[in-house]
Parts: sequence; structure tokens; C-alpha cells
Amino acid sequence: MNLNSSVGELPMVGPIYQTRLQKMDIEKIKDLIYHLPNKYLDFRKSSKIGRVQIGDIVTIKGKIDSIKNQYTRAGKKLQIAEISDETGTLITVWFNQPFLIRTIYAGDTFSLSGKVDWFGRKKALISPEFEKIIEGGETLHTGKLIPVYPETYGLSSKWLRRKIKTAYDITEDEISEYLSQSQLKNINLVSLPQAIKSVHFPEDPEEAEKGRERLAFDELLFLQTQNLKRKSQWQKNKATYQLHVEESEIEKFTNSLPFKLTQSQEQVIREITGDLKKKYPMNRLLEGDVGSGKTVVAATAAFISFLNGYQTVIMAPTQILAQQHFDTLKSLLQPFKVRISLITSSISSKELGRNDIFVGTHALIHQNINFDKVALVVIDEQQKFGVEQREHLIRKVKDKNTAPHILTMTATPIPRTVALTFYGDLDLSTLNEIPKGRQKISTWIVPPQKRAAAYQWIDSQIANYKSRVFVVCPLIEESEKETMKSVKAVKKEYADLKKIFKGVSIGLLHGKQASVEKNKVVEAFKNGKTAILVATPVVEVGIDIPNATIMIIEAAERFGLAQLHQLRGRVGRSDKKSYCLLFSEAKGEKALARLSAMEKSYSGFELAELDLKLRGPGEIFGLRQHGIPDLKIASWQDINLIKKAKSLAEEIAN
Ligand code: ADP
Ligand code: MG
Repeated sequence: MNLNSSVGELPMVGPIYQTRLQKMDIEKIKDLIYHLPNKYLDFRKSSKIGRVQIGDIVTIKGKIDSIKNQYTRAGKKLQIAEISDETGTLITVWFNQPFLIRTIYAGDTFSLSGKVDWFGRKKALISPEFEKIIEGGETLHTGKLIPVYPETYGLSSKWLRRKIKTAYDITEDEISEYLSQSQLKNINLVSLPQAIKSVHFPEDPEEAEKGRERLAFDELLFLQTQNLKRKSQWQKNKATYQLHVEESEIEKFTNSLPFKLTQSQEQVIREITGDLKKKYPMNRLLEGDVGSGKTVVAATAAFISFLNGYQTVIMAPTQILAQQHFDTLKSLLQPFKVRISLITSSISSKELGRNDIFVGTHALIHQNINFDKVALVVIDEQQKFGVEQREHLIRKVKDKNTAPHILTMTATPIPRTVALTFYGDLDLSTLNEIPKGRQKISTWIVPPQKRAAAYQWIDSQIANYKSRVFVVCPLIEESEKETMKSVKAVKKEYADLKKIFKGVSIGLLHGKQASVEKNKVVEAFKNGKTAILVATPVVEVGIDIPNATIMIIEAAERFGLAQLHQLRGRVGRSDKKSYCLLFSEAKGEKALARLSAMEKSYSGFELAELDLKLRGPGEIFGLRQHGIPDLKIASWQDINLIKKAKSLAEEIAN
């Protein structure tokens, strides 16, 4: 038997157990060895029976004097045993395990570990772990630090502990270190064989942690190595077009903008132009908080492509956003004779040939577009696209050994360590500066009793300052998609608000409207005809309406921090003072802590880090939404490990 043997080769593991193990993805001995404990029970303290104290968690050794099943009045079965040593006798109680009387026999010597507590008026050991003492043998379930394994139906932690021990004893010598002595010394972690031993059979918690650290490192190293492989694979491609960059021409464009670029935007534009000049295609992720001005960065890159006589494709996740990009790019680039088209389902290929920039939703993947002249592809709000949609697009634009430059943009402030691990195959640029002149968006939690006053305040803001207001209702179902139920809810809110804000014009926007209708609604809000826009979270992604200054979020506790931050980012996009009101009936401490984080912090990166601390990994800040799977062993808080793994992966790759 070796590490690659089937678990079925272990003694007493038949087809039934094999199927159960399979449910936890355990098929080979190796998988079993890598099934790691999620916690440990500390049974290291042992005591003579006569000296145990209430509240102690102890291990005792003694002879079983008796054991029997006993029924309670409620019909439950208790198992009661008496165990003694030379210092005294103690009662032991288990609940609903009637088979124990056929496992534990009077006269045998047992080791038991558990908590001492009152049982009626007597001191007793409650539901302890137990095992028969075999002369000369060591204990596995009692008397030391005991690993507790993730269980599944029909596989108890105790059963797993026994099998893992057997598997480990047989294959121990096969587990070998794959790093060199000097690499091992550099990372300053225990060796792999030591790590496996330490996580399953630690002497103390510190040893267990050292073992976990090493295995976590291996997981991260594997991810990083794969990233680097994908990166070098990508860089073997030839860029469809290697672009020439004329600084003075770009300056003409940036000087024509209605604002001055931030230093951060300038820096990122330098990074991108550096890429565009290379022989191999760019593959860059631009991370920038909401409102940091990513669109103009993409526009600059598209302008460079245009100056070279080539085309650019810009993909946005929603029709509304595509329309907005189309409008923005037109106003920025038309003075330079750049021809821009919004891709609709009816556009003809002839028409496409006559344009320099195409903007569209993922529907453009399905269009019969000729990508021969496309030098640059921009994917905006990439977190909103599925992994398949992104890959589909890349396959479509890519030839055997050539690919256009690809710029991916996202507003989800993935903590840098996370981004470096998961998007390690992409080059990373960050916009970490918000354009000058923006004021802080005052954010308040509004409990039910203050709702009426809040409405009054909004009414006066509209009357006195012509404020424009978003009202966002949450989706009703858990799913990310909008359903009829959500549409109904937002329609009701719309009707209610019409009664409250008499004489104020109100618009309604949801995903089920036809795109012509949507455009009309957004347009009316943009040019100020409607004062209040009631919407589902369709407004979350990318919408840029600088006039809007008040964001109302209904049932705010139902949104994640990431989404709240995105929604809030729809206001405060000009130099006007903006407000975000979080309507919530939540009373729970956790929910309120999350909402009050919104009152205190205005930085997406800060909120992301906070969310990383407040919640478990995986759930954080829309990581799942990004298609980022949970780490199995490592965690996103292991920043030092992530750095170590990255640098070793690079060393190995070079
Ligand atoms: P996001 O990064 O969220 O996509 P946008 O590109 O939509 O942000 O930009 C947000 C708003 O800020 C837009 O109205 C844009 O015109 C404006 N903007 C972008 N860059 C600057 C800048 N350097 N100074 C002032 N306003 C800017
Ligand atoms: Mg944007």
C-alpha cells in the first residue's frame, strides 16, 4: 500500500465507507493523510479519579466497575458507567449511545477524557472520549491533544482518527520533502513530513499550528506556481498588434479632458502604455475604488489603439452601463474623430467595419464580429461576468498564437494579498486616489422611527437644492438575479413614494424593463427631469450620474458591505455634498456593526480589510462573486505566508 493506493485497501474500509469518504473527496490514502483537523481537544491534563474537580477537562484511567443503559422519563437512553482507581470512583454518563454497553465491559481498564460536571447531585464525567488501554500501546483518542476532523454522515471524527493513524503508520516513510534544504531554510517553516505528523499527532497546540502553517504554505505555493505558469503561457502569445505610443498625441487627449488626471490615473496610464508597446499582449487587472475614474483610463488606452489605426472592444455587464460608456466615450473622443458604436443585436458587420470602438454587453460575444483589426479588449466590472463569459470572450478574440491586449477593470477592492494570489497571472494596477474636490459622503443608519423625518429632510433637499435621489430596494430572493418578486417589491415602493412625495417626479428602474425604456428612465434622471429614481440593485454597477447626491438604501442590512459601498459610490461623483441613508430595521449586533462600518469608513480597501476581519474567508467582500474559491488550509489573513509563497514561486519559475 502506498500514498496513491485507494482507501479501500485499508483494513475494514469496505465499499460503504469508501462511498462515504468519496463524499469528502477522499479516494486515495494521500487524500486521507491530507484530511486535516479543524480543531483539537486538549486532553493533556490527567488526574487521579479521587482528585477531579467540577469544570475540569481531564483524562482519567481506571477499571470499569459497571455499565448499563438507563431510560429517562422523557424516553431518552442514558449510558451510565462507574470507573475507579486506587483514589476513588466516578460516574460516567453518555447520552443516546445504547451500543456502548457492547463496547465497554466491566473489568476492562479504560482511559477517558472529557469534562467533569454535576450529574444530578453527583460529580460525573460527561460524554467523554474513551478507549481501552492496551498494555504497551499508545492512546489515540484520550490523554493528549486530540485532533477533531471534519465529519460527514456515517464517518465520525473518531473513526477518521483511527483510519488516518493506520494510513499514516503505513505510509509515513513515503512522505518526502520536495523543497531543497536552502529553500526550506529560507521559508523558515517545518519540513513536509514533520508538518503532516504535527497536524495529526501534535504534542501541543504550537506544534499543530506550525504544521498547519507549512501545509497552508504549500497550498499557496501551488496556486502561485500555477499562476506563473499561466502567465508565462500567456506571454508566449504574440500581441495581435504591437502599438506605437506617441506621448504628445496622448497629451493632446488628456489636456482636452474637463478635469486634470489624478497622479494615480497618470501612473496607471504609464503602466498600460508600457504594456501596449510590448511584443506580447497585455493582460492587466485595473483595480480602482468606485468613482476613482477608471473609464477615462480605458478611454486613453482605446485612443492609443485608434492612433495606430486599430479597433477596441469594450465589454460592460449591463445594457445601461454600455449605453453610458458609449455616451462618455463619444463626448471624450469624438473631437478626435474617433468613431464609436454601441453594439446592438441588429448591427451589421459592414457597419462594424467602419468604427474604431465598439461598446456592448456580453451579447457582443455572440455577435459575428471580425476581430482582425482589434488591438485592445477592455472588460469593465469584470466581477459581474462569469468565468465562462470571460473565457469565451478571450477565446473569441484570440488566435492560435496571437492575442489582443486585454485590460480588465474592477471596482471590488480585493485586498492586495488576495489579488496577488488569485490574479497572480495578471499584472496588477491600482487606482488608489479619488479625484480632487470630492466631499465625504455623509452616511447615516436610519432606524424605522426616524424614517418620517428622513423623508421630510429629503423633500426639503429636493425643494431647496434640486437634489437628485436614488432609492434602492434589495432583491427579494437570495439569488443574484432579479426576479418578478423583486420587481413587484420595487413597484410597490415606487407607488408608496409617489404618495409620500406629492408633486415630485419619480422614476422607476428595474432589470425587467425593455432597454429602450431603461434608457429613457436613466436619461430623465440624468438630465434632472425626475428627482427620485426608485431602482433595484441594477444601478449598482458603474452608473455615473454626477448630479445625484442622495442615496437611500432600503433594508440595508440585506446587502453585503461590498455592495453597500458600490451603491454608495453612485453618489458623491462631483464636488457637490452627498449623502447615503441606510434604512434598516436590523437590531442584531452583527448587522449593526457592519452598517456602522459604513458610517465610519469611506475607502473600499479599508472596508474590504474590515470585512476580511469581521467575517470568515470566502464570504468576504464578494470574493465568491469573483469566482474565487475558498482556500482549504491557508487563510487570507496569512499575509506573511502569501508573500513567502509568492517569492518562492517566482524563484522556482526563474
Ligand atoms: P469608476 O472608477 O467608478 O468607473 P468613472 O470612470 O465612472 O469611475 O468616473 C467617475 C466620475 O469621475 C466621472 O464622472 C468622471 O468623469 C469623473 N472623473 C474621472 N477622473 C477624474 C479626475 N481626475 N478629476 C475629476 N473627475 C474625474
Ligand atoms: Mg466604472
